[in-house]
Amino acid sequence: MKTVTILGATGSVGSSTLDLIEREPDKFQVLALTANGDVEKLTQAAVRTRAQRAVVADETCLPALRERLAGTGIETAGGRQALLDTAAMGADWTMAAIVGCAGLEPVMAAVEQGGTVVLANKEPLVSAGEIILAAAARHGATLLPADSEHNAIFQCFDATRPKRVRRIIITCSGGPFRDWSTEQMRIVTPEQAVAHPNWSMGAKISVDSATCMNKGLELIEAARLFPVPYERIEIVIHPQSVIHSLVDYVDGSVLAQLGPPDMRTPIAHCLAWPDRMATPMQPLDLVALGRLDFAAPDEMRFPALRLARDALNAGGARPAILNAANEIAVAAFLARRIGFLEIAAIVSDTLLRYDPPAPTTLDEVLAIDAGARAAANELVKDRVI
Ligand code: NDP
Repeated sequence: MKTVTILGATGSVGSSTLDLIEREPDKFQVLALTANGDVEKLTQAAVRTRAQRAVVADETCLPALRERLAGTGIETAGGRQALLDTAAMGADWTMAAIVGCAGLEPVMAAVEQGGTVVLANKEPLVSAGEIILAAAARHGATLLPADSEHNAIFQCFDATRPKRVRRIIITCSGGPFRDWSTEQMRIVTPEQAVAHPNWSMGAKISVDSATCMNKGLELIEAARLFPVPYERIEIVIHPQSVIHSLVDYVDGSVLAQLGPPDMRTPIAHCLAWPDRMATPMQPLDLVALGRLDFAAPDEMRFPALRLARDALNAGGARPAILNAANEIAVAAFLARRIGFLEIAAIVSDTLLRYDPPAPTTLDEVLAIDAGARAAANELVKDRVI
């Protein structure tokens, strides 16, 4: 029996993870499930899986959670420290599926226990990748990538011969506005932006996919996870989201991982790794698919891609600033305070205005994250519709 903790159990990735482990109750034992404030969904999942503990990060939701779980024998807790203590309970396998940099400290707490930590939550890797990787090495933790592109690269990458890799090619669906002009994108609504053509995901990553910032964050994520110079990591538009990424070797061989656009495949890969486990997905029907298309990304219409590549090239605090400003701008867009095109503009302006030295510790990353959020919030106020 593997003990499992899911950080962000009520979200899109958390629900996909629960779906898989509930199909194999004799293989997985749930230690803890966490949410921010969705007490109803957390309660149901905790009862179904007979979790040892259920935790809400938002402490004001704890009384409701206690009430809902009274008499079940499931421990309850609430607040930031409870979340960190829970991440540090020592599960064999932890799914990191909190959205945003709010997941950074819980990821570090899990890594410091030395088990397997599965990263769907990409923002901590963007903001503090080197610090997380160093901590994993120090504590003997295994990091596995659940993000579908990075999981695909992981499956194709010959880690024993990284020098034989010529390029990593990350595929990008292009999002719902792939063929739209900048003028058309000026007036898109949050509803249009979260309606991804291929994937069903949480609101924040859906907006990131629409601006292509998601691909920018993934570029940085790939540079953190795989020992390949970042100038050899490319992005290609692939509207069908069937090829999840590719690895190009010096002999001309290009290995790709294909699969349905469903997070349960990469999550299952991480759950069973180094073995494989069955999932409910139908086999890929290549004949029905008929064709796979590719195109170059357009950094003029999707400036987030250029901003992310520049932040990666510059290094230091830049990726953390990029990520924090993007989180603020996306939240403001979802709250209808700013327009869609303002998201990249606010990230760009925050990067221009705020230039702290490179962080070397987790506390320094958190301070940069807070500083960038404050700067981006000021810019949001200037641009409120
Ligand atoms: P969702 O918005 O669907 O879920 C987010 C989860 O995090 C929820 O459980 C939420 O709890 C919890 N949460 C939110 N804020 C906080 C907080 N401040 N403290 C603690 N917990 C919090 O997100 P997704 O599942 O879509 O994405 C999760 C992560 O995985 C993101 O980093 C995303 O980029 C990445 N990812 C997602 C993919 C997808 O297909 N969805 C694919 C690849 C990567 P509550 O429900 O109570 O608000």
